[in-house]
Amino acid sequence: MERTNDYPATCAGCGGTVAAGAGVLVGLRPKGWAVYHPEHVREPGPPVPHEHPGWHRRGLTAFDVAATGHRTAVDRILAASVRCADGTARDWLVDPGAGPLAVDPAKRHGITVERARAEGVPAVRALDEVAELLAGRLAAGEPLVVWYAPYVLTLLETELTRHGLPTLGERAPHGLAPVCDPLVLDRHADPYRSGGRSLERVTAWYGVPHDRPGDAASDAEATLALAQTLGARYPALARFSPPALHNEQLLWNAAAHGRHDPDSWPLAPVEPRPWSAHGPA
Ligand SMILES: [Zn+2]
Repeated sequence: MERTNDYPATCAGCGGTVAAGAGVLVGLRPKGWAVYHPEHVREPGPPVPHEHPGWHRRGLTAFDVAATGHRTAVDRILAASVRCADGTARDWLVDPGAGPLAVDPAKRHGITVERARAEGVPAVRALDEVAELLAGRLAAGEPLVVWYAPYVLTLLETELTRHGLPTLGERAPHGLAPVCDPLVLDRHADPYRSGGRSLERVTAWYGVPHDRPGDAASDAEATLALAQTLGARYPALARFSPPALHNEQLLWNAAAHGRHDPDSWPLAPVEPRPWSAHGPA
C-alpha cells in the first residue's frame, strides 16, 4: 500500500499544498521522503535548470583526447579536440611517431595507429598547438573543462614532456588552473545517484546530446554542454568563482577518493616511461 502524508505538506512536483492524507510519499536517497499530489509524482530526474548567473554562462574551454589506452604513463594521444563556449572548435589527428604502439580494443574512437601515422600532424607540432591554445585560454581566466581531468591532463602533460615541449602547467601563468571536471561536480552535487558515472551515462541523465562516445570532438562537445547544464541546475556550484571552484574540486575529489593526494589534482602523479614499457594494451 502507498504511504501518504500525515500532515499538510508542500508538493515536491508543483510547490502547492497537499492536504493531510491526500498526497503520495516518495523515498529520497540517502534518506527522507518527498510528498507529491498523486497526479504530480514524476520519475526521478535531475533538478531543473535556472537562470542564475555564474561561470557556466561565461567563457569555457572544453578539451578531450582519443588515445591508445588508459595508461597515462605510456599511452599516446591520437586525436585531440577543443570546443569553446564562444564557438571556437579545433581538432587534431596526431601522428604519434615510431614505436611499437597498439590501440586498446576497449577504445571506441576507431582511430588506428596506422591511420594516425599516415594522416596525422606530427605529435610534436600538434601537441604544441594544443598546449598553446589551452594556455591562452587559461591565461584569460577561462575554466578548462575536462571530463576525468586527472587522466586527460596527465596524459597531455606526459606527452608534452616526452616530446621535449613545455607542459601546459608551465605555459599558463597560474599553472594548470582553473580546471573544471564535470565528473567531480556531478559526484559532489548528486553523490547517491546509482547507474554509473561514465560520460555517456551522465550526459544521458542530464539530457545532453552525445552522438559518438569515445570520439574526441563529440566528447569535448558533450563535456562543454554538461558543465553548462550542471551550473544551471545546481546554483550552489554556479556561485563559485573559477579559482574557488578549482580549489573546491581539489577537496571534493579527495573526499570521493580517500586514497588520492589532493595536492596533485587535476593531475595524477606519473613519470613518462621508455618505449620498452609500451607493450600492447
Ligand atoms: Zn502538486
